[in-house]
Amino acid sequence: MVRNKKYAEVYIDIKTFDIDHAFDYRIPAHLSSDISIGKVVRVPFKNRLETGYIVKTKDNSELAEKEIKDIAGVADVKPVFDPQKLELINWISRYYIQPIGSVFKFFLPPGGKSRYAAGGSVIKFKFKDYIILNKVIYKKVKDKINWKKNHSKKKVIDYLILHGEVSKERLIKDTGSGNASIAVLAVRNIISVIKKRQKRDFRYDYETDKTSKKKSIVLNPYQKKAISSIEDAINKKLFHKFLIEGVTGSGKTDIYIAACKKVLDCGKKALILTPEISLTPQLFSRFESEFGSRVCVYHSNMNDAERYERWLDIWNGEFDIVIGTRSSIFTPLDMIGIIILDEEHDPSYKEGTRVRYNTQDVAIKLGEILGIPVVMGSATPDLVTRYRAEKEDDFTLLRVPIKAQSKSFPETEIIDLKKTDRLKEDPIITSRLFMAIREELDKKNKVIIFLNRRGYSNFIICNKCGNVPRCPACDLSYSYHSDPGKLVCHHCGREQNYDGKCPVCGADNIFLYGTGIQKVQSKLQMRFKDTPVLRMDSDVTVKKKSHQEILKKFISPGGSILIGTQMIAKGLDIEDVTLVGIINCDSMLGLPDYHMNERVYQLITQVSGRAGRKKKKGRVIIQTYNPESSIIENILANDYESFYRQELENRKELKYPPFSNLINIIISGKDENKVKRDAGEFFDRVSEAAGDCCSILGPAPAPFSKINLFFRWYIIIKSGNMDFMSEALTEILKRFKKFDENKIIIDVDPVWIL
Ligand code: ADP
Ligand code: ZN
Repeated sequence: MVRNKKYAEVYIDIKTFDIDHAFDYRIPAHLSSDISIGKVVRVPFKNRLETGYIVKTKDNSELAEKEIKDIAGVADVKPVFDPQKLELINWISRYYIQPIGSVFKFFLPPGGKSRYAAGGSVIKFKFKDYIILNKVIYKKVKDKINWKKNHSKKKVIDYLILHGEVSKERLIKDTGSGNASIAVLAVRNIISVIKKRQKRDFRYDYETDKTSKKKSIVLNPYQKKAISSIEDAINKKLFHKFLIEGVTGSGKTDIYIAACKKVLDCGKKALILTPEISLTPQLFSRFESEFGSRVCVYHSNMNDAERYERWLDIWNGEFDIVIGTRSSIFTPLDMIGIIILDEEHDPSYKEGTRVRYNTQDVAIKLGEILGIPVVMGSATPDLVTRYRAEKEDDFTLLRVPIKAQSKSFPETEIIDLKKTDRLKEDPIITSRLFMAIREELDKKNKVIIFLNRRGYSNFIICNKCGNVPRCPACDLSYSYHSDPGKLVCHHCGREQNYDGKCPVCGADNIFLYGTGIQKVQSKLQMRFKDTPVLRMDSDVTVKKKSHQEILKKFISPGGSILIGTQMIAKGLDIEDVTLVGIINCDSMLGLPDYHMNERVYQLITQVSGRAGRKKKKGRVIIQTYNPESSIIENILANDYESFYRQELENRKELKYPPFSNLINIIISGKDENKVKRDAGEFFDRVSEAAGDCCSILGPAPAPFSKINLFFRWYIIIKSGNMDFMSEALTEILKRFKKFDENKIIIDVDPVWIL
C-alpha cells in the first residue's frame, strides 16, 4: 500500500510574479486518500478560502508545524491534470514568461474557476433513470409468474424486449405502467434501474455535402509513404515530428484518418487541432463518417455550457478522438497517442490574450513529454516549422506535391493595377475581373472574392509605381504621419521626412490603403443583380451557426459569389468554385511586420486552392500594384520551395526567426508620457541584463500605436538564447515596479508584431 504523505504543495490561483510559487499545506487525515497531483483543493489563504492546485505531495516541510495550515477540502474526485501535464504547465510558464498560476486555468473545465470558487465540485449533472431487462433472470422466472395477474409488469417487459434500454420516464409514458410495477420488477432483479447522465446532443451541425460521405479511396503513393512513416513512429512509441507539405487538395485529411486508425488500433486516442473548426466543417464530417460517435468536436463556437459538458465527457473518457480549436490541447483527454495539427501555419493557433502561447509549440512539447508522434500539415508551412523540419533529426518532412482529384493547378492571372485607367475603370473590381466573374456565373459556377481586411491604412503606396517606402534598417514599411509629414519606422523608431512625393518615381500620389468589404459587396450586388452575393467576415459571423448558413446558401446549386476575408481561405472544399479573385493583394504586403511576405504567400495560396478542386478547372485572378514582386512570382509558379529559400535569406540577413526568437514586450496605458517612460526604463533593464546575447529594438510606438484610448509602445528582443532570456525577463518582471497604471504584455514568438 502507498503510504499517505503528510504535506502537499499547492499553487494558489493568483496571478502575479511575486507569489508565483507553491505553498505548503497539511493533508488532514480524512482527506489523505483524496489527495494527489492535479487535484483541485480549497485552502485557507490570507483569511479566506482560495482555489488551489496540488503539484506535489511530500513528507517534510521546511516550515514550522504551527505555520502550516490544513487543506480545507477537495473539489473533485479526479485530478484535472496529471504529472505529465504538470510538466507541460511548467514549460508553458517558463517559456512564455507567465506566472504559473495563470497557466493552470487552461486545464480547468470551462468556467471552471468560478465553479470551483463557489465551493464544491464542478460536476453537477442531471441524472435520469434508465431501465434495462435482465434477460437471463427473466428467462429463468418467466414461466413461474402469473402474467395475467401482473398485466402492467408484463407490458413493461414486452416494451423492454422490443426497445432495449429506455428511460424510466418514457417507459411509464408509453406503457401506462406505474412506478410500483417497475419497483417490484427491480427488487426481483428482472430489470435494472441505472442512473445515466442526461446528455445534450450537440453533434456538429453541418449539412455535409455529398462529397464528404464515406467513400473508398485509393491512396496515391505519396499518401501511402506519408502514412507508413507515421505508422512507423506510432509502432516505435517514440516522439517524432512530421510535417506534411501537401499542396491544397492533396488529400491530407486521408493521411490523418489513416494515422488515427492506427493509433486507435493500438488502444490509444487522437487529438486533432484545427485553426477554426466552423470554417472547416468538412474535416469533422470526414472524421465522423469514419469513426462515428468515437469522435467529438470542441471549439470556440460552442457556448460555455456546451463546452463544459463536452469537457466532462472527455474527462470521463467517452471519446477516442477530439477535434478542436487551440484550447482542445488542454482538455483532459488521456492516453493520447498522436497529435495532429491541420493548417499548422495558421496564425490563429496563437492565443491572443494573457498567456500568448503558440499551439504548435505546446503540441510539440506535449508530444515530447508523452513520447508520441506530432503530425503537422499545410500547403504553405510556417517558415520556422519548415526550417526545423529540415534541420532537426527527429523531424521528418513528407511531401505530397499532387492534387488528389484534379490533374491541374488553377491558372493564375495577374492584373497590374498601375496600368488600369482610373477614369474608366474601378480599381477594386477591374473590368477584367468583372468579365471573368460574368463568364463563370454564366456557366452556373461559383466565385470567391478575397479581400484582406487586416487593414492598416497608415502605410503609403505610390499609385504610379507601386512603391511602398520602407525603413532601410528593418525592411518594414514606414508608417505615414501626416502631422508633420514624415515617415516613421514603427520597429526601430527611424524617421524620414516626407514631402508627399514618391521617393522612387517622384510622383505625388499618396495612397492610403483600405477598402471595406461592404463596399465590395454592394458593388458586386449592383452589377450582378440576380446572383446571391454573400459576405463572410467576422462582423456577420458573430452569430452562432451563421457560418453554416452562409456556406449553405453558397453551395446550393447555381451561380453565386462569396466575398470574404481570411476566414474563407481555409478548408472549403466546394465542387463548383472555378474562380477566385484577390482584389487588394498589396494591402498586406505593406504592413510593417516581418511576417508579411509569408502571410501573403500563405493566404493567396490557400485562397487560390479553393478553385478547381474537383473536375472543373479553376482560375485565379490577382489584382496588385506589385506584379514584379518575387512573392507574386513564386505564387504564379506555385513554388513554395523557392519562396521559402528566398524568404529564409531575407530573414537570415536581419536575424529574424528562425535565426532568432522574438520577444515582443508591449507596454500600454492611457498616459502616453508614462507609457514612454516605463518603456524606456524597461528597455534599460533588459539591455543591462541581456549583454550581447541578443539585440533589442525600440522602444518605439507600436504600429497600432493607439488602441481603444491606450497608447502602446513596444520593445522587441531578438534573442539567440531563449532559456537565458526567459529567466532574465522573469527576474526583471519580478522586480520591476508595479504596473498600476500601465499594462505590460509579453509575447514570445509573436505571430504578428503589430
Ligand atoms: P487537403 O490536402 O487540401 O486537406 P483534402 O484532404 O480536403 O485535401 O482532400 C481533397 C479531396 O480529395 C477530398 O474530397 C478527398 O476525399 C479527396 N481525396 C483524397 N485522397 C484521394 C485519393 N487518393 N484519390 C481520390 N481522391 C482523394
Ligand atoms: Zn526600422
